[in-house]
Amino acid sequence: MPQIAANFAQVRQRIEDARKRFNRSDSVELLAVSKTKPVSLIEQAWQCGQRHFGENYLQEALEKIEQLKDKGIHWHFIGSIQSNKTGLLAQHFDWVHCVDRAKIAHRLNDARGGERSPLNICLQVNISGETSKAGVSLDELPQLANEVARYPNLALRGLMTIPASSDDFSTQQRPFAQVADALKTLQQQLPEQPLDTLSMGMSNDLEAAIAQGATFVRVGTALFGTRAPIERTP
Ligand SMILES: *Cc1c(COP(=O)(O)O)cnc(C)c1O
Repeated sequence: MPQIAANFAQVRQRIEDARKRFNRSDSVELLAVSKTKPVSLIEQAWQCGQRHFGENYLQEALEKIEQLKDKGIHWHFIGSIQSNKTGLLAQHFDWVHCVDRAKIAHRLNDARGGERSPLNICLQVNISGETSKAGVSLDELPQLANEVARYPNLALRGLMTIPASSDDFSTQQRPFAQVADALKTLQQQLPEQPLDTLSMGMSNDLEAAIAQGATFVRVGTALFGTRAPIERTP
């Protein structure tokens, strides 16, 4: 079996094992994070049946999207968002996982246009102790969610988080549990929104995320190998 196929088989098995172990009867989707990786590897992944891909760097992503436009791929933006790039995001992506301020949501809504299906949005939550400074705090989350819910060209799908990395399973689970609780609260607060998504878990902590209700795990390294350090601005 080629390496990529073996990696996909292994990661899918990890997801399946975790679903069984934690009694998950709903689905857990694999989002393949292909940042810095060439189109040829994405094509190999596509041959393995993969259809959801995540990218962090807009210019790189736009080139890949153009080259792979006939393949029926669902493109997810998971990088940090510059407000002057919201037009390109709204035009070329199906999902944006890392919305953390109202201004960005407003601009994405304007740029999406009503003739297309609403852009799927996850709000990025920053649980204290995270390494990344991006994300809205749990305190400010309800207000941001209310704002996003008003925009007709956005579908508020759920929450995304990137916790500080840890090798300890119970430490890994704690922030995921907090984000899952926050989603339950939002579901009650905004019953008309399609809030069905928890985007959490990466190569090293996908089992802990699945234990706490992840519906998308975002996996890069375990599928495509390690990445070279990046020398560019996102
Ligand atoms: C790079 C990245 C991933 C994938 O991380 P791995 O550890 O390589 O699996 C997931 N989510 C986000 C937001 C990323 O930037």
